[in-house]
Amino acid sequence: GGADLECEMLVLGAGPGGYSAAFRAADLGMKTVLVERYATLGGVCLNVGCIPSKALLHVAAVTDAANAMADHGIAFGKPKIDLDKLRGWKEKVVGKLTGGLAGMAKARKVEVVRGVGTFLDPHHLEVALTGGDGQEPTGAKQVIKFGKCIIAAGSQSVKLPFIPDDPRVVDSTGALKLTTIPKRMLVIGGGIIGLEMATVYSTLGTRIDVVEMLDGLMAGADRDLVKVWEKVNQPRFDKVMLNTRTTAVKAQKNGLKVSFEGEGAPAEPQLYDMILQAVGRSPNGHKIGAENAGVAVDERGFIATDKQMRTNVGHIFAIGDIVGQPMLAHKAVHEAHVAAEAAAGHKSFFDARQIPSVAYTDPEVAWAGKTEAECKAEGIKYGKAVFPWAASGRAIANGRDEGFTKLIFDEETHRIIGGAIVGTQAGDLIGELCLAIEMGCDPVDIGKTIHPHPTLGESVGMAAELFEGVCTDLP
Ligand code: FAD
Repeated sequence: GGADLECEMLVLGAGPGGYSAAFRAADLGMKTVLVERYATLGGVCLNVGCIPSKALLHVAAVTDAANAMADHGIAFGKPKIDLDKLRGWKEKVVGKLTGGLAGMAKARKVEVVRGVGTFLDPHHLEVALTGGDGQEPTGAKQVIKFGKCIIAAGSQSVKLPFIPDDPRVVDSTGALKLTTIPKRMLVIGGGIIGLEMATVYSTLGTRIDVVEMLDGLMAGADRDLVKVWEKVNQPRFDKVMLNTRTTAVKAQKNGLKVSFEGEGAPAEPQLYDMILQAVGRSPNGHKIGAENAGVAVDERGFIATDKQMRTNVGHIFAIGDIVGQPMLAHKAVHEAHVAAEAAAGHKSFFDARQIPSVAYTDPEVAWAGKTEAECKAEGIKYGKAVFPWAASGRAIANGRDEGFTKLIFDEETHRIIGGAIVGTQAGDLIGELCLAIEMGCDPVDIGKTIHPHPTLGESVGMAAELFEGVCTDLP
C-alpha cells in the first residue's frame, strides 16, 4: 500500500524505552521515526511519573528535614505553602527534561510524528495525528512504512471498577497535578507509587489512610527494610489497613464515603476528600492494533519477547512496561538499547543479573538482586551481613541513624547476589551494590575497597567486613 513516510526503524511510544531506542537506532545509522501521541517526549516517567514525583518528594524531604531541625537547636516557622508556585516548579523541572529530549531527537535527526499509532500490517503503522496539550485528534492521518519496529507503548494505571467517576478520585497523574491539598485522603494500594504520593501529601498537611490488600506494604522488599520505614512513618498516617479491601465508594457532597472489608477494616464507612488509586499499572498491548502486525499479546496486554527483545514477529521488537515487570524506567532504557542494537544486527542480549527497585520515600528503601525472601523461595543457601546505621558516624551526624545496609551472599561461592538499604539516600547508595552484583564481587572485594569516611556509602564496606568475619572458609 501507499505510505506518507518511510523509515528503517519505527519506534512506537516516546517514554524512556521509546526515546532511548530511537536515539540508539539513530546513532547506529538507521533512519528513525518516533511516534508519540502527546505533545512532549518522555512518556510516563518524565511527564507524570519518576521526575515530577521526585521533584515533589525532594520538596517534602527538605521540608521535613527543616521541621526536624528544632530538635538540633534551629527552629523554623510553620511552612507556608504556595501551591501554585510548587506546581510551577515541578512543571519547570519536567519541562527542562522533556525539552532536552526534543533537542536530542533533533540533533540525531529522529523524526517525531505526533499522533496515536495503530498497526495496519507487519510493515505499516497508521497514525491519527494529534495536537494541543493532550491527545486531541486533528482529524488528519498518516501512514508510515517501516523496515523494523520497536514497540514501547508503555502502561497506564489500573482503575478499580466500582469506584465512581468523580474529580475527587485520582490516579498518580491526577495526584501529581496538585490541584488541592485535601484534608483527608485515602491511598488505595500500599506499593511504591502510593506511598511516594502519600509522603508528598502528608508533608503538605493531608491526613492519610492507606489500604492494602496484601499483608504488608511495599511488596517485593524484604520485611526488615519495611519495618524501619514503618517505624519512622507511623506518625504520617491515621490508619494503615493491611489485608483489607475497599468494597464500595459513594460520592457524596461532603466527601467520598468508603466501605472496607478485611482485617484492618474500620466498623464504619470512612469519609475522604480525595482518593488516590495506586493499585498497579496495566500494559497498553491491546490498544495498538498489534494483531494486525501478527504480534502476540497476552490477555493482560503484555507482549512476550526473547532476550533480544524480539516479539514473535522477527522484525518487531518490544520493550519497557509493555513487556512485563518490573515496570521501571531503567529497565525500559536497557531493554531499549538491546532492541535497537539487535535490530541493527549486533549480538546484544538482555542479561541483567539485577534490576534495582527504589521507594523514594523518607527514609528511602532500595534493593537489588536477590532478596532474602527470593533466596528462601528458590532454595538458595545464602549468608547475610547487616550493618546498622546506628554505628555510622555520618548517619548519626545527620540525625538519621534508623537505617541499615544489608548484603546477601551465596554461601557456596561467596559472591554477592543481593543487597538492600533502608535510610536517607538509599536510592543513590544502592548503585554500588548493583555494580558489585553484576561484577560478582565477594566480601573481600567490597570490604577491602576504601570508602570515604564519614559517608553513608561507607556502610557498604562495613557490612562486607562483617561478612568477612562471619566467613571462615573464604576461597
Ligand atoms: P511509558 O513511559 O509508559 O511511555 C509510553 C509512551 O507511549 C507514552 O508516552 C504514551 O503516550 C505512548 N503511546 C502509547 N500508545 C501509543 C500509541 N498507540 N500511539 C502513540 N503513542 C502511544 N520508574 C522508575 O524507574 N523510577 C521511578 O522513580 C518511577 N516513578 C514512577 C512514579 C509514578 C507516579 C509512575 C506512574 C511511574 C513511575 N515509574 C518509575 C515507572 C516508569 O514511569 C515506567 O516504568 C516507564 O515510564 C516505562 O517506560 P516505557 O517507555 O515502557 O513506557
